[in-house]
Amino acid sequence: MAVPKQRHNSSRKNRRRGNIFIKTPVLVKCPKCGKPVLPHTLCGYCGYYKGTELVNVMAKLEKKEQKKRQKEIGEAKASEPKKEEKK
Ligand SMILES: [Zn+2]
Repeated sequence: MAVPKQRHNSSRKNRRRGNIFIKTPVLVKCPKCGKPVLPHTLCGYCGYYKGTELVNVMAKLEKKEQKKRQKEIGEAKASEPKKEEKK
């Protein structure tokens, strides 16, 4: 069995362990609904990716929730062009 030849000092140990932490995920805004999404991935909230619907999210929801979500997605869509106009 390999045996350590020399003792590693505390600063060396701390340098090694300085990189052991949970990285915060990089999130971008979904252009369709405005929810935070991982980049280059399908939005789980509205089912859109690159402007096309790939998953029908509404199919599994109940009618009440469908209405609610449709409203949220619609509102996000309506509010986005206003922001662009201001710039
Ligand atoms: Zn979305």
